[in-house]
Amino acid sequence: MKIIQLTILVLILCCGIFTWACAEPPNPAAQKTPLPFDSHRAFEILKKQCEFGPRPPGSEAHRKTRDYLFTELKKYTDSVTLQPYTSEVDTIDDPPQRKTLHMNNIIAEFGSSHSETLLLAAHWDTRPCADRDPNRDKQREPILGANDGASGVAVLLEIARILKATPPPRRIIIILFDGEDYGKTTDQMFFGSRYFAKNMGKWKPDYGILLDMIGDKDLQIPIERFSWEANPEFALAIWRRAEKLGLAPFQRKLGYKVMDDHVPLIRAGIPMVNIIDFDYPHWHTLEDTVDKCSPKSLEIVGKLVVNIIYEGL
Ligand SMILES: [Zn+2]
Repeated sequence: MKIIQLTILVLILCCGIFTWACAEPPNPAAQKTPLPFDSHRAFEILKKQCEFGPRPPGSEAHRKTRDYLFTELKKYTDSVTLQPYTSEVDTIDDPPQRKTLHMNNIIAEFGSSHSETLLLAAHWDTRPCADRDPNRDKQREPILGANDGASGVAVLLEIARILKATPPPRRIIIILFDGEDYGKTTDQMFFGSRYFAKNMGKWKPDYGILLDMIGDKDLQIPIERFSWEANPEFALAIWRRAEKLGLAPFQRKLGYKVMDDHVPLIRAGIPMVNIIDFDYPHWHTLEDTVDKCSPKSLEIVGKLVVNIIYEGL
């Protein structure tokens, strides 16, 4: 009798342990842990863009960079699209010439289209004239745009690698805008974001983050004012997250109001926040070069964006 009772007890215990083992859910944290952001790889992507030279629309370097970025993104997702458009512009020549610019936004899609969509944006073109250069004779030369252009793109291409390795819990659209920095006046700039704001189609996001000029060695990022005025809670949530992650360059105070690619989207009803360090002495000069940027700065911004992708806000 005792043997039978003991056998039943052992069977119950074994079944219990077996059931518990089977019922244990997979560890969601283990599944979601993304690859770490590789700052050196991101910096190589920044350098690679600069090796093409200045990249204003219409230039040979611009065409080569477009092909390079398209090919790179194709390594990480099958869904990469060129979104072409043209604009009539006045060139920087004296007197200005009227010409047609051919431009392309580059759009890559990751994750399920049935979930909320986060847009991550940067501009890939560079300014055709160094109109803030202290040397007046050089002000018609095109800038290299290591920080103003290449830095945001570098972070997003490194993030594309992470997104392929660890599928995100929400849909991510990476968009590289063209024609952000073309003209002398704001009506001759932001061509890519203005076009996208009117032609979002299947890529229409629920909210988005713009990265611009985030490669500066001396990185300091206050809250950009257009972003704050349009969506204060969204902006604050990003800076709070940066604080939580110990990313000291993010300063929870208001900075400049910077007209940039986020504004056409805000006007189209998309909550957008611009992460930008506008205190950059080499802005729109020939000194916006690789040596003014650092892998560490790319990493700080990359870490924050990766955290937001996988943890949400
Ligand atoms: Zn610029």
